[in-house]
Amino acid sequence: MSRDMNAIDIKNLNKTYAASKKSEAKLALDNIDLQIPKGSMFALLGPNGAGKSTCINIMAGLVVKSSGIVEINGYNIDTHPRSAKKSIGIVPQEITFDPFFTPKQMLELQAGMYGVPSNQRKTMEILDMVGLADKAEAYARSLSGGMKRRLMVAKAMVHDPDILVLDEPTAGVDIELRQQLWDNVKLLNKSGKTILLTTHYLEEAEQLCDRIAIINQGKVIMDENKDDLLARIDGKEITFRLDKEISEVPKQLDGFNARIEGKRRIVITYRPADTSVGYMIEAIKKAKYGIVDVQTDQSDLEDIFLQLTRKTA
Ligand code: ADP
Ligand code: MG
Repeated sequence: MSRDMNAIDIKNLNKTYAASKKSEAKLALDNIDLQIPKGSMFALLGPNGAGKSTCINIMAGLVVKSSGIVEINGYNIDTHPRSAKKSIGIVPQEITFDPFFTPKQMLELQAGMYGVPSNQRKTMEILDMVGLADKAEAYARSLSGGMKRRLMVAKAMVHDPDILVLDEPTAGVDIELRQQLWDNVKLLNKSGKTILLTTHYLEEAEQLCDRIAIINQGKVIMDENKDDLLARIDGKEITFRLDKEISEVPKQLDGFNARIEGKRRIVITYRPADTSVGYMIEAIKKAKYGIVDVQTDQSDLEDIFLQLTRKTA
């Protein structure tokens, strides 16, 4: 059944890292249950140290779990490790590769490791997809941070896995390339791949994913469709600086939770699920004010945790 429905199915997953000379034993995953539907774009969101990488590395066979069941594409990683591995491509958090290989060589090598026959390799096609076709013959060390990250994505794709997992993919990637990376990932999702990404930025999860699970201290504390989750987050604020002075909230903004701040500012408190900023801008324009500047408070994961735990307590 899970084979039909879920790309990834995790039950009662636990991980305790053994004590070492440097550190005490650490419970990193505390009875995780997680289902990732096929074809979805899924974000595993959580602060640093929450257990995101541990979870992903267990799926990839890079970290050994303490207990629990993990199925990838319906394949249990304990009983069918090879089939499970073939189904999934992982872009790890740390960028690692030999600086003296070219992107083309690197993909060929990776394809070889996965036993992809030469005539079925799509090295150039994959490089093209991540926008690196013109760097196919360049030394990897000459690539920028963003290019290296995209090369890691390409590497994870050589065996054409159904599931692509990206662990904090935008760390160290500048904004422009980030957008490019996202476009690539969205295309892959459209073509039918299941995408799982981890991030500690709500914004990122919000922009890209259709479902979000929040993990904190090794526990899943929330797992919902994005829209439902956003509906629970209230009190987002946006400030519009206007081109002229204003003394009271114009009638066009009735129905918005708006207030005047200082002489030229309108502040609107809203729930992202209910209102779009576009409507606010329209209303302000209708009231014959120009907008000089817009500021939003970054939705802070800490705030959300507080809100969520307050609500469930
Ligand atoms: P995240 O990816 O969400 O930042 P991690 O999965 O990397 O979180 O880490 C979860 C917890 O497990 C942290 O407390 C971290 O210090 C600990 N941890 C991670 N890897 C190891 C390891 N190899 N040995 C011991 N503890 C580890
Ligand atoms: Mg991590």
